[in-house]
Amino acid sequence: MPFPQQGNTEGQAALKEALAQLDHAAERLSLDPNLAERLRHAKRSLIVNVPVRMDDGHVTSFTGYRVQHNVTLGPGKGGIRYSPSVNLEEVTALSMWMTWKCALMNIPFGGAKGGVCCDATKMSRGELQRMTRRFTFEIFNFIGPDKDIPAPDMYTNEQTMAWIMDTYSTQVGHSVPGVVTGKPVVIGGSVGRREATGGGLVNLVGAALDHLGLKAEKMTAVVQGFGNVGSVAAQELSKRGVRVIAVSDVDGGIFNQAGLDVEALVHHVDWKQPVGAFSGGVPVTNAEILEIPCDILVPAATAGQITAENAPRIRCRILAEGANGPTTLDADRILEDAGVFIIPDILGNAGGVTVSYFEWVQDSQNYFWDLPEIQLRLEKIMRRAFNEVMALSAERKVGHRMAALMIGISRVAEAMRLRGLYP
Ligand code: GLU
Repeated sequence: MPFPQQGNTEGQAALKEALAQLDHAAERLSLDPNLAERLRHAKRSLIVNVPVRMDDGHVTSFTGYRVQHNVTLGPGKGGIRYSPSVNLEEVTALSMWMTWKCALMNIPFGGAKGGVCCDATKMSRGELQRMTRRFTFEIFNFIGPDKDIPAPDMYTNEQTMAWIMDTYSTQVGHSVPGVVTGKPVVIGGSVGRREATGGGLVNLVGAALDHLGLKAEKMTAVVQGFGNVGSVAAQELSKRGVRVIAVSDVDGGIFNQAGLDVEALVHHVDWKQPVGAFSGGVPVTNAEILEIPCDILVPAATAGQITAENAPRIRCRILAEGANGPTTLDADRILEDAGVFIIPDILGNAGGVTVSYFEWVQDSQNYFWDLPEIQLRLEKIMRRAFNEVMALSAERKVGHRMAALMIGISRVAEAMRLRGLYP
């Protein structure tokens, strides 16, 4: 395979960041070193070979991963991504962030993550389906509604979840909708799940604007990444009257100080056109887009985008993190000192996993809620977490990211302390 399967620098950097975050938070919390030591390691990691017959008849072996970082508070929970950057270190870091995220939101899940190292953008629907089914079969014993529940992440979607659910159900002999979340509604998915991550993030931007005494209609926004999270965030910001002046996808983006027509851009992308080919603005690279002066900057692409190198050139009032791990700890300090209001990833993008929780509850009860009920419950959970982060940040004089990590980590640590160490 042409892809690095283990030990690429992006994955190693993500894991280093995740561990540094844990160490800093543990120090601030004066955490029992025995608990901190246990939290530094993933509970279980599975690496599988996924042989797939490609459309031209030859067989390619892809490497797949599922890591359960911690299951003290409930079954493992977290997405599955299909990307060339996927390796054990990256998936481990992401599973750790899922643990803190679920604990911060107070939902009864542990943290997990999975992925297959592949370039999904170059694969046919048939190849993706065969790869998904074989991967599901290989991790069959590892997942389940009470064990570990996958969901969409980068380059996976509702269709991917439908194939996983179908493959799992075929093995068991009856339908098991609760084995994944983020499924199509007709097979047990939840209304509002698709919009939950971007929508939840923009709700928190609303809370931040209230906190700062600013008006949405006077704000500008820049969004890096136009997948499920970035596109919904751009639409929701625009609906609130925010002027969205630049957006990008993996190949680059487009900038117009007068504002972009977000709805037209969404249609353009629906037709499989790159964001950069949209008329009505000047092209920008993914690095440049982060440095465009704006009020609200939304990194919604991938990890490690904002570092000590580019942070001094970033000019925004609110950093609303839709991606997982977009900002390094060094960059976080620089932005904090510059007075940027940070909505850290484990808070900002937690709307997705929160509605995943609702989906799992609905599946287990075979009783489905309507959209207003989902939105009301989501808003309540996210506002509570936001207020808790604000309160701890003020009380302990730490930044928002550290406060969010401290809340998540202390909840997991307390549960581990109470349950004790076996044997
Ligand atoms: N992949 C999403 C995340 O990183 C959602 C996980 C889920 O819904 O389980 O939060």
